[in-house]
Amino acid sequence: MTNYTNPETIALHASFRGDPSTGSVAVPMHQTTSFQFPDVETACARFALQELGPIYSRIGNPTTDVLEQRMAVMEGGVASLAVSSGQAATALSIQNIAATGDNIVSSTDLYGGSWNLFANTFKTMGIEVRFVDPTDPENFRRATDERTRAYYAETLPNPKLQVFPISDVAAIAEEIGVPLIMDNTAAPILCRPFDFGAHIVVYSTTKFIGGHGTSIGGMIIDGGQFDWEKHADRFPMLTMPDPSYHGAIWTEATKPMGPVAYIIKARVTMLRDLGPCMSPFNAFQFIQGLETLPLRMREHTKNAQAVADYLSQNDKVETVIHPSQMEGVKKRWADQHMPKGFGGLVGFEIKGGRDAGLRFIDALEMVYHVANIGDTRTLALHPATSTHQQLTPDQQLAAGVTPGYIRLSVGIEHIDDILADVSQALEKTSA
Ligand SMILES: *Cc1c(COP(=O)(O)O)cnc(C)c1O
Repeated sequence: MTNYTNPETIALHASFRGDPSTGSVAVPMHQTTSFQFPDVETACARFALQELGPIYSRIGNPTTDVLEQRMAVMEGGVASLAVSSGQAATALSIQNIAATGDNIVSSTDLYGGSWNLFANTFKTMGIEVRFVDPTDPENFRRATDERTRAYYAETLPNPKLQVFPISDVAAIAEEIGVPLIMDNTAAPILCRPFDFGAHIVVYSTTKFIGGHGTSIGGMIIDGGQFDWEKHADRFPMLTMPDPSYHGAIWTEATKPMGPVAYIIKARVTMLRDLGPCMSPFNAFQFIQGLETLPLRMREHTKNAQAVADYLSQNDKVETVIHPSQMEGVKKRWADQHMPKGFGGLVGFEIKGGRDAGLRFIDALEMVYHVANIGDTRTLALHPATSTHQQLTPDQQLAAGVTPGYIRLSVGIEHIDDILADVSQALEKTSA
């Protein structure tokens, strides 16, 4: 009875059963840089990757290892790699298979940090990012050439909150032989991208997984389904000898461990060389968060749906941006990929534009005004004057940010108190 399939049970029991040396039920925090080798032979075997024991906490740590294994089980993947932030997860997930002269194709609907990484920093490294509109999945095929190394998108991107057509793009990805990387930060538990054919999943664990707004972290999960050898020409970084590891060919060297070439290489070259590891303390915090994640996602989803329903009936609100309010193909993609509900995010456009938006934020009493999502507490933000202020008005509109747009990350307080605060702020806002 150890192959649990229900997320509620996986979150508590997968990959750890009492500490072998002390019986500790909570996963112990191994706040140490390095690990005593039992003997020189073991040391040699660990460095040669013949044995996967701990060496040094930049490359791996037993506390972090429990989090990595648990999240891989939760997502239905084969293995994962914890890193220092969601940004590090995105960067490494691509740098692991793309180098100077290569390109990736990305959805235009992206987190601002990912957008900057793709449009500016990757450009300085010689990795081109081709942005395409995801409302036509065929755009991914059209932008692909022989140097395309990955497709990249977010399951539930804000502010538009239009669910990405994972299965349509995954089918194209599979046909051409390009892995689909999904940022699932806004939809853990509610969507498992691997179930729809995605190949790699990345997370900012900072958000719903940590859940309590205490720690920055990220995760890369390998679905183990992508056939790197079949498309060997496209992935020389995995299928040709790696001079940084005495000529290892990752698809060959990792075979005894299963279909884990991608994630092992990310650990032993990317994390080794670039260094953005997760601290054991943060891994410990994320393990605590993960334990109640299925429970919290249910409450976030229920409360956000109630807020969306309330706002859609309010005459001070111009429009509500939430998958439940969408029609046509947007609604179909939302229902297909998130059958259990649409998570904690709700957007709305307040009547009266920018000024009304700012007055609403200032009038909130319980709801926090912060640039974050996925906290247990309800959070609000006015993107036009904060996260999206550097964009021109036209660029803001293209990103879905109208002057009166308010983003809510609905928390797990009692719904009556959330609605009371939103309602009193709307009252005060009306001129
Ligand atoms: C916050 C966020 C990130 C970046 O994560 P950090 O942990 O802040 O580096 C990436 N993608 C999405 C969707 C996010 O919300």
